[in-house]
Amino acid sequence: MQINANSLSLQAVNFYNMNVFTTKQALQKALTPLREANSTVGFVPTMGALHEGHLSLIHKALDENDVVVVSVFVNPTQFNNTSDLAKYPRTLAQDLKKINTLATTKILVYTPEADDIYGASVSKSVFDFGGLAHQMEGKYRSGHFDGVGTVVQRLFEIVQPHFAYFGEKDFQQLAIIKKLVQLMKSPIKVVGCPVARAQNGLALSSRNARLTTEEQDAAAKIYRVLQSVKEKFGTENAIQIKEWVIHQFKNDPILMLEYFEISDALTLKSMRTKEPKTKYRAFIAAYVRDVRLIDNIALN
Ligand code: AMP
Repeated sequence: MQINANSLSLQAVNFYNMNVFTTKQALQKALTPLREANSTVGFVPTMGALHEGHLSLIHKALDENDVVVVSVFVNPTQFNNTSDLAKYPRTLAQDLKKINTLATTKILVYTPEADDIYGASVSKSVFDFGGLAHQMEGKYRSGHFDGVGTVVQRLFEIVQPHFAYFGEKDFQQLAIIKKLVQLMKSPIKVVGCPVARAQNGLALSSRNARLTTEEQDAAAKIYRVLQSVKEKFGTENAIQIKEWVIHQFKNDPILMLEYFEISDALTLKSMRTKEPKTKYRAFIAAYVRDVRLIDNIALN
């Protein structure tokens, strides 16, 4: 069966046994009595093209809440590259099928069009995330986190969840959402979830769908390098490790390294000298053709 909720004029649709909402009014109407009955609301924001990584977040949210809202919305304001936005996979019918394999009566799916979130003007606010947005993704994807902050703030206002679930796959984003909640003076608790990986170690990502099998195998090197970095972290300094990582990618025929960083897991500042009580993580961004992949690992 071909399903496309957004092509229907209905605001609330029942697919299989699932509640799918295309407007915030319809979603909020469904949430109000649940909230009045003291149900806890978990929230998993996604851009769709769902994979096991997304489903692991939904599973955790289902374990910890009475009802779970899953949003599927490809947010235009967080893309700094229009062709990346155009090529982003959109697979709503398959996404709904995947969600349908879970505890569907507890899940409300929100699949808005841009105007439901943004009104007539699709624009982003400017945030001060206290330095968290200046490096790595923020440095290489100008304005990205202002777009993320804008959409997540609006989604939080619409859904008003008790708990919101984000993947450590996008570790910098997770840190920024925790900061956003502080800036909003919101009671929402942000829950970080571990990175789900393919068998070869490649971090699952909607963008992997744009890679051939051979490219996916080649991209698994990103995680192998991160694991070696973790081993080296005990004995080598940041400069030595960075040189080693750059060398690993230097003549790679498929992968192009964009950045490698070892950073303080709380402030995300680049590590200079290792402080004994500080938690560190290593971060990589790399391209396969025009497909941009990111991954990270805890080092201590
Ligand atoms: P996205 O649809 O890419 O915006 O991702 C939606 C949420 O799923 C974000 O919180 C991501 O960090 C999370 N996510 C994406 N891929 C993974 C993964 N491989 N493991 C865990 N969480 C993930």
